[in-house]
Amino acid sequence: MIMDKKCEIVQDLLFGYKDNTLHNESKKIVEEHLKTCENCNKIFQDLKEEENNISSEKKEIDYLKKVRKNINKKNKLLIIIGIILTIVVAFNICIFSYYYKEAGKLQVFLEDDITQEQMEEIESKILEIDKNANIKYYTKEDSLNEMKSKIENKELLSGYENRK
Ligand SMILES: [Zn+2]
Repeated sequence: MIMDKKCEIVQDLLFGYKDNTLHNESKKIVEEHLKTCENCNKIFQDLKEEENNISSEKKEIDYLKKVRKNINKKNKLLIIIGIILTIVVAFNICIFSYYYKEAGKLQVFLEDDITQEQMEEIESKILEIDKNANIKYYTKEDSLNEMKSKIENKELLSGYENRK
């Protein structure tokens, strides 16, 4: 391949021409030469194409980075929502089980002179309605003690106790 002096000069200037950093005079020389020299023109096109590939590659990388960033953001949000939901659900389960324990306990206050037969009758009637009923029987003595344990100021009950 024969390459004349002009081609050599122009090819040295091609990078500058591509990046638009040449003085007007040099720019003109390159422009004029590219119009007539197929070889230099081809080198210039290759140069431009290479740059386009690099910039599109860079764009692609930037895009991927952006997507990854968004995914990370979304993931973080999902994790936070997950944690909140877990806390809420766990909290509700605690409340529910507490309620269930308390509400499920059926308190039955019995007269002192109740017979075993009467007690069984009461129990069977309760179990007819709710066979899972958790029945707790209280005598008058039991209920007094229960009340005492619930009332902080036990002196309030001393009068009642003394009357017995
Ligand atoms: Zn040339």
